[in-house]
Amino acid sequence: MSLVSFALVKSKPKTTGGGERGKKMKLLTHNLMCCVKCHGFPLRITADDVAGIDAAYDGLFVRKMLPRLEYPVLRDAFRTVQSQQRDMLGHVAAPLPDSIEAPPPPAEGDSESTTPAADLTDGSPDSRAIFFALQSIAIKEGQLTCPQCSLVYPIKDFIPNMIPPSA
Ligand SMILES: [Zn+2]
Repeated sequence: MSLVSFALVKSKPKTTGGGERGKKMKLLTHNLMCCVKCHGFPLRITADDVAGIDAAYDGLFVRKMLPRLEYPVLRDAFRTVQSQQRDMLGHVAAPLPDSIEAPPPPAEGDSESTTPAADLTDGSPDSRAIFFALQSIAIKEGQLTCPQCSLVYPIKDFIPNMIPPSA
């Protein structure tokens, strides 16, 4: 039986032949990073310069990534960057939904007062806003600061330097 080898082949990442985009400092990347010294999370963002990335919207990507991410961290990181870069991001993009969790069931006799859950169907404004936050902006210059040990990681030309300075 060749089931095992089939599974192995299938799980290989697709190679498209195109150049790797590199690990630009996107908010997707930020969501997966912690302090290399003390594992503090989430790192605080200071965005001195941001740039747009040409990424084609992909609703499936959003639905697949969200369970692996800390959504409140993404939401707050995006709002932070937006507030630091109003010229570029002040007017752009629909607001991120406050929560992607389904609301708690309504209390008895109170059927429609809860906020609806984010709509993550393909092409919905919520899904597009989340994709934009994850994939369409990158921090070009700035820094990340550990919330626990206050170590600072500079970001230069989209690349965060995650090597702690030697003491
Ligand atoms: Zn730290």
